[in-house]
Amino acid sequence: MQVDHSSAGGEEPPSRHQVSALKSFRSAGRGFWHDVAEADWQDWRWQLKHRITSVGQLEKLMPSLTPEELAGARLANHKLALGITPYFFNLIDPADEACPVRRQVIPRIEETTTASWEMSDPCGEDSHSPVPGLVHRYPDRVLFLVTDRCASYCRYCTRSRLVSNASGYDFHPEYDKQIAYVAAHPEIRDVLLSGGDPLLLSDEKLENLLSRLRAIPHVEFLRIGTRIPVFLPQRITSELCAMLKQFHPLFISIHANHPRELTTEVRDALARLADAGIPLGNQSVLLKQVNDDPAVMKALLQKLLMCRVKPYYIYQCDLIAGSAHLRASVAKGLEIMEHLRGHTTGYAVPTFVIDAPGGGGKVPINPEYVLCRNAGRVLIRNFEGKIFEYPEAADGRPCGQPPKTIPEPELV
Ligand SMILES: *Cc1c(COP(=O)(O)O)cnc(C)c1O
Repeated sequence: MQVDHSSAGGEEPPSRHQVSALKSFRSAGRGFWHDVAEADWQDWRWQLKHRITSVGQLEKLMPSLTPEELAGARLANHKLALGITPYFFNLIDPADEACPVRRQVIPRIEETTTASWEMSDPCGEDSHSPVPGLVHRYPDRVLFLVTDRCASYCRYCTRSRLVSNASGYDFHPEYDKQIAYVAAHPEIRDVLLSGGDPLLLSDEKLENLLSRLRAIPHVEFLRIGTRIPVFLPQRITSELCAMLKQFHPLFISIHANHPRELTTEVRDALARLADAGIPLGNQSVLLKQVNDDPAVMKALLQKLLMCRVKPYYIYQCDLIAGSAHLRASVAKGLEIMEHLRGHTTGYAVPTFVIDAPGGGGKVPINPEYVLCRNAGRVLIRNFEGKIFEYPEAADGRPCGQPPKTIPEPELV
């Protein structure tokens, strides 16, 4: 097997300067909102109230919208709502049509094109839903949908059929029924709150929900999937952190795709969560012209470690309707993984997964490191392409060694 160590497509590897620019922490700044009072800017409810939700606002703030974006924004509210917090909007480079932040939140007309293999429920969640708002696919854990709203809307959202309610799905979680199901199923030891974004709930509502779940004796492990630390770091108040830390073990998975999303504001919000003893993970989606580049992905993952976040998953982009313009290939994902393992800190290396279309769950995808296996050996290659042999007999014992009886150690 030939292993290509050069960077993607024979391009020049990024210079040290480019990589350190990707990894430096900067504030998102105030931009258009420079004269807003600091107390308002830092208030998460102010940020939500002032979200960009209409094409008119967007055009005013960003005269450089392309025709594709303008047409996309006009149609967005029929499919997946347009929504961007002022804080996050300031990360967009209006002069760069290919800005990796821009591509994630500004609608494009391509969203209205659906390829024949794309779906409205690509992971088959509705067919694994015993009660509304609960997905029970794996034996010991459930996905518990808390709300259909988010602070901002990712254009490639896998749950866009229900999130933001733009397409009339009319999602209404029924906490009583969801909790009753968990309570009635002793095999459920892990409850993952998601949505929509659970951290959009008030502290009181979230505390109530977490308390009710914690009161179920067989629920060992709680976790929250949220993009709020990235879209709305102002929401991560010390009061929220103090409330959350009552429910340990509680893990949080965040969602960052590009190093530029890790601003000083996000870094500080993540520090507050980590200081509350909450182990942090990150889930990225592999996206074309956002992070489908080994140098960009590596910078993101290393920068996450600097924020005490363990990169958990990289997702192959689900086959959600209207996402073809954002989908990178599985081959690109494998190439990125090849550039990570061995080349950087093992803690920075997430698992690359495909959430199997139709509802098979997450399947890990790895570059092949086992070259061949037969009765006597496993032939492996390392990250540098060097080949090694691990001798092993068919029954798992080291090759060539007859089974030995090991004397019992003497008891002292
Ligand atoms: C992703 C997911 C989970 C959690 O999976 P882990 O691999 O344990 O993080 C649980 N339920 C559903 C339906 C999911 O999609």
